Amino acid sequence: MSELKNFKNFKIKTLKYRINYLEPEAKILEQAAQIINHGGLVAFPTETVYGLGADALNADAVKKIYEAKGRPSNNPLILHINNLNQAEDLVYLDDRAYSLMREFWPGPITFVLKAKSIIPLETRGGLDTAALRMPDNKIAYKLIEAANTPIAAPSANISGRPSPTDFNAVSQDMDGRIDMILYSDNNNLNKNIGIESTVIDISDEQPLLLRAGGTPKELIDKFLLKNFNVKLEKPDEQSKRRSPGTRYRHYAPLIPVKICYFKDNNFIDLKDNSEWGFIGLHEPNKIFKKVLIFKSLESYARELFKSFREFEAEGLQGIIAELPDDETGVGLGLRDRILRASAL
Ligand code: AMP
Ligand code: MG
Repeated sequence: MSELKNFKNFKIKTLKYRINYLEPEAKILEQAAQIINHGGLVAFPTETVYGLGADALNADAVKKIYEAKGRPSNNPLILHINNLNQAEDLVYLDDRAYSLMREFWPGPITFVLKAKSIIPLETRGGLDTAALRMPDNKIAYKLIEAANTPIAAPSANISGRPSPTDFNAVSQDMDGRIDMILYSDNNNLNKNIGIESTVIDISDEQPLLLRAGGTPKELIDKFLLKNFNVKLEKPDEQSKRRSPGTRYRHYAPLIPVKICYFKDNNFIDLKDNSEWGFIGLHEPNKIFKKVLIFKSLESYARELFKSFREFEAEGLQGIIAELPDDETGVGLGLRDRILRASAL
């Protein structure tokens, strides 16, 4: 694995393999697993966004993730696993954790729990908790199986940029910086979500919603209320149980993103912007250089980050994004991503 020696120079040769999403080729998986097991980095698809994976139990490998992304080292990583026994090795589980995992995994939800010491501090950004997720994607599942270790994987983008949802986006940010990109055109039969997982902290009595995402908050609330008579709350500003990663401006293209609102069948204060692009759920009544309209919250979420990168590449001066007011389903997570991309 000569590439790995030159890693710091960010001039490594990045292998790129298309892999079948229904029957991932064993040979390709084996090669990817070897890279992970030798402390290298492999980008791979999940049902949310592409992940940038390393052996979660190898501190040196995990450090390379932070370097490749330019990610602040106090922003902890999510460990991706493919069975509950793995979870037992990594964190302390109670009945509530087990039942949430059985209900919502595999799927776009991440649980923060008290970490066991086997997880290096690098992986958990120095915290005494760790975040775990079981992705609903066969390529990810088989890669974890082949590597036989939990895979730490943040989104496979340069820190702060829009998360990658296709090969081009991963390649744009990570070519030359990592060992391998696994990709697939349609890696989950159009079930892809396009934004990251919902993160909830269940390390203490009161469960906290740290980040809205792919799993609707109302489904988690319903389950928690019925079975444990408790509801999710948001951490307050001072809480130690906040998610470090939600402190920064994030998910943003290089061009500005501004928000507009649609109310009572009209856009509020929308102006002509012939050098700007527009994305949203309703046709704008003003002039834009490019307009993308989505039929549902789901397709808006699925295409959001891709649209950001496309508009940027096409040389538009900025993006006006309609902020949906629907907070159900993927709406809450979608709103969060649009708001944070537009934050100054
Ligand atoms: P990313 O994988 O880049 O989408 O980000 C993972 C998210 O999970 C970030 O918002 C992190 O701050 C959050 N996270 C990971 N581990 C923990 C933890 N132990 N406690 C709180 N938040 C966490
Ligand atoms: Mg990310």
